[in-house]
Amino acid sequence: MSTEQLASTTSSHTLDTKSYDVNHQQEIPALDIVQIAKKTKEITKILRVNSLTENLPNKNEPIEPLSEAESPGPWAPSRCINSKCGQCSVCGYTVLRPDISKKEIVDSIMNQTDKFLNNFQKNVIDKQYGKILRPDVDNPLGLTLSPTGSFFAENELPAENRVQILQKVLETAQAYQVNLVLTVEAHARDIVKKTQSGYFSSPLGKEEINLLRALHAQVLLGFESQNDFVRNGLYNKNLSLKDFETASQELQKQKLSVGAFVFSGLALMTDLEAKNDALKTIQYLLQKNIFPVLMFANIQPNTITDVLRKNGRYKMLEPFTVIDTIGDMLNLITTHNPDSNWLIPDPVGGPPDPVFNIFLNRHDVASSQETNNYLRSLIYRLRHDRDITSFQDELVKIHQTSEYQNYLHTLQQQEKISRHQSLLDRTKEMLKFVNQPKVIQAYLDSEQKS
Ligand code: SF4
Repeated sequence: MSTEQLASTTSSHTLDTKSYDVNHQQEIPALDIVQIAKKTKEITKILRVNSLTENLPNKNEPIEPLSEAESPGPWAPSRCINSKCGQCSVCGYTVLRPDISKKEIVDSIMNQTDKFLNNFQKNVIDKQYGKILRPDVDNPLGLTLSPTGSFFAENELPAENRVQILQKVLETAQAYQVNLVLTVEAHARDIVKKTQSGYFSSPLGKEEINLLRALHAQVLLGFESQNDFVRNGLYNKNLSLKDFETASQELQKQKLSVGAFVFSGLALMTDLEAKNDALKTIQYLLQKNIFPVLMFANIQPNTITDVLRKNGRYKMLEPFTVIDTIGDMLNLITTHNPDSNWLIPDPVGGPPDPVFNIFLNRHDVASSQETNNYLRSLIYRLRHDRDITSFQDELVKIHQTSEYQNYLHTLQQQEKISRHQSLLDRTKEMLKFVNQPKVIQAYLDSEQKS
């Protein structure tokens, strides 16, 4: 089967012209990426069935807010469009029961948001977390509004509903005389579709953009990696670099601030591969005036990584890798674009809260639990005060500890082993293992018991 034929059998997977492995040593044929994405999708679809069990938030109960260590917002579950084709490989979003209708979901989002805004002082003003970097806004307050997949996806939140919500947010902020910085998350393909259909020039589109501007909105696009193999193969993102660039340019043309998620720690990358891939991605984003939103892989249930974990084949990142990746990101920012914003989502929080977490109960890493707690607290402090200098001073001290020397040794060992097998071959072997009916069945059985 040709690349084109195979691509057309795997829904709308779009391919970039040339892809390389993360070490940039081996060109990865597009066909391999498509096959890996196809297999990942098939397996993920089977595994996800166990997750699709949740009800919508109860209308009469108090609203569920996002994590306390983020800009506040209502938790409004919805159904990501990618869930139809099995979702991205590591994602824990989209857990609603399949029989819940789109209308029920949209009504629930509207209801959650209304209830949240009706108590603006308690839910938004009193729950602010940390500093917001927006020099163009006086005393900015943060608010996050997102259905769980993509804010701009018509199947999740139609344009009329979005405009209604944005109007209400703006009116409430004006009534309280505060300047909001609104954060929404979106899939780049939804922006591309809107660009192509001329939505942003339509009356409704213009109204939406004006409201977003008045709310100093920052749109965070799912990107994960500039490397096509990582993004579309390992992550199964189904997003071409061209679409990402079209979407971010369109948002910038509309004078909205644009950030992009960078995801580090996918199976079966080594710690160094994961770190280098994240840093290359951050460099790429900074050159395009897109700010990075750096995330690290924890483990969600009913994902390929959880199957691998159960079978002793996947280890989350070392906590020292996380702290070093953040340190290097900050170095890149201060060197290349000191005005750039950056975000680090709560590294241990959800929603949904991950059961297996990089910093908690790790017995397989070079750092002790006490050190892991300390590293975690440093990240929280940085997220809160955004004091880069004091974070980097702490890093210098950390680098002198014996635990950190042990960590360097662990990295060397990882590289020695991985040198014998390319990431592409490791990935193929990993998928072959997970794809065995007995392995999947054993996992599903054990999940049902737990
Ligand atoms: S990562 Fe984003 S696009 Fe992928 S399945 Fe999750 S919500 Fe959907």
